[in-house]
Order: sequence, then C-alpha cells, then structure tokens
Amino acid sequence: MKELHAHLNGSISSDTMKRLMAQKPDLQIPNGMTMIEKGKKRRLEECFQMFQIIHQITSRTEDILMVTKDVVREFAADGVKYLELRSTPRDENATGMTKRSYLEAVLEGIRQCNEEELDIEVRFLVSVDRRAGSTVAKQTVKLAEDFQLSTDGVVVGVDLSGNPTAGHGRDFLEALTEARRAGLRLSLHLSEIPNREEETKLLLDLPPDRIGHGTFLHSSRELVELVKQNRTPLELCLTSNLKGQTTPSSDQHHFGFWYRMDHPVVICTDDKGVFATDLSQEYQLAADTFQLSKEQVWNLSYEAIDHIFASSRTKTALKERWQALKPSML
Ligand SMILES: [Zn+2]
Repeated sequence: MKELHAHLNGSISSDTMKRLMAQKPDLQIPNGMTMIEKGKKRRLEECFQMFQIIHQITSRTEDILMVTKDVVREFAADGVKYLELRSTPRDENATGMTKRSYLEAVLEGIRQCNEEELDIEVRFLVSVDRRAGSTVAKQTVKLAEDFQLSTDGVVVGVDLSGNPTAGHGRDFLEALTEARRAGLRLSLHLSEIPNREEETKLLLDLPPDRIGHGTFLHSSRELVELVKQNRTPLELCLTSNLKGQTTPSSDQHHFGFWYRMDHPVVICTDDKGVFATDLSQEYQLAADTFQLSKEQVWNLSYEAIDHIFASSRTKTALKERWQALKPSML
C-alpha cells in the first residue's frame, strides 16, 4: 500500500501518546481528547481542537523525533511500502523549538528509520497552515526549498492544510507558485467544507499535483470539469470524513462519485491516530462499502504509484514489486 495523505501529528498512535503524556505529568489532558474511538464522531471544529492538545505534548524536538519514528514504524507494520508524511513546522518559545529544528527532527526521524532498514520508503511534504497567513506561508515554502536541497529527495513537496474556515486561498497563491517554481510538488486540501467554489477555482488554477479530500467539489459542475480536465488525483480518507462529519455515511462518500467516473483516487488515512484507523482498514472500508473486488482493490493500490511525488525510478521499482506481489494478493 501507498500512503500519500498522512499528517504527522494526527498519525500519532494512542501508545505513543500515552508515553508522551507520561513524560509531561503537569499537563492535564482530559481522557479521550487525543483520539476518536470507533463509532464516535466529532465536529470538524473539535477535531482541530484535538490538534491543539497534541501540540502541547509534542513541544520539544525530542518529542518530534520520537513521534516521527513511531509513526513510520507503525505504517511499515501495517504493510505500507511507500509513505508521504506531511507536517507544519512549528515554533515553541517555551522549549526553544523553531520551525527549522522541528523539520530537522522530522527528517532525522525519517533518516534513522531508513537506517533500521524498515521495508518502507518515506518522503516528506512541508505543510503550509492556512491559519498562519501569507507571510508565514512564504517563510514555510522557503524552508521547504532549503530542505529540498539538503535532504537529497526526501522533501518532495508542499501541502496546504489547516482549518478550512481560516484565511482565503488567494492568501497562499504567491507562496504556492514559488514552491512550484522551485520544483516542489503541490498537494492542496480543497473544498473540505461546502461553498468554497471561489477559492477552490483559484487554487485549481495553479494547478495542484494532487487534491486532499475535495469533499464538496462535486457540488459544482465547473469544479468537477476542471479537476477532470487535469486528471488531478484525489487523496480520499473515508474514516476521517465520517468522524469529522463532513460526510454523512460511508456509502455517500465522494469516493463513489469519482471512482465510478474512473477518475484517479488514492485511499489514505489523513490522521490514523486521531481517527483510530490504519491504511488496511481504509482499503477494507472502501472495498466493503463500494463492493470492490480483490482485483479492483489491487488496481487502486497499484495506480496510486502513478501519483506519488518521488522520482520515476522509485515508481518503477514500486511497480515491479507490486506486479510480483499480485498473484499472492488475489
Ligand atoms: Zn488532511
């Protein structure tokens, strides 16, 4: 499997969370405020509040190093062979962590996992947080460019994410255009909430290389046409949308709309920790809900390789492996 839409902080498992909280006994974290258990739902606004709590327990670079290694190992244990993680670099005055040292810690975690010879390839996207506005967005892109050069292909792109009600897409056009000029690939969270036609159209003009969620794209014929024309792949996260209540039920998830149109889609987890899921469960949920055959599931996973941001050499190697695995998976 290939995981292309995973936020580092939201991917922290409850085991890692417990270890982090044990190290910070003076922080009083209410029970159940770090993940949403099976069957439970939270409004999107509450989901973003959960991230505030996660930020409190990951305030030092050593926390970031630990969570990165744990998250990569967990994806590897789930059978993910290629992972693109993403995260917003963060300053913490209290601990002296800076955006740069935050990113260094993440990349060091990825490097250490590489040395452990886990059976997983990891790449990284630097996230631009909508809430932080256009100036910070430009600084973030500059950092992404620096690390793109210094990490030899590990930093492959930039993501636009964060609370979808914050800011306007136009605030980020300049920064994202610059990222693209520098050769960074773009994955943008688009139309996560209703009535975002104007900013979605602006951002689709860039155009992005992939779209995160696109939950409400199909309520506008014009947007659907634009996405279809560019055949822009969609990163779809069923459990995340169900628990965040932007989708009423799994059979009404927009996976069905795009899949039936033969449009490229990639099944992803978004925040496997917060939403208590993993990529195998997400494939299973899509297969059960939309009655996909084993062959169709294999094809979904195989075609995801076309949409990764790593080099064509990595793509070819993954495709060969997947072909070799096919008989045992069907
Ligand atoms: Zn996301």
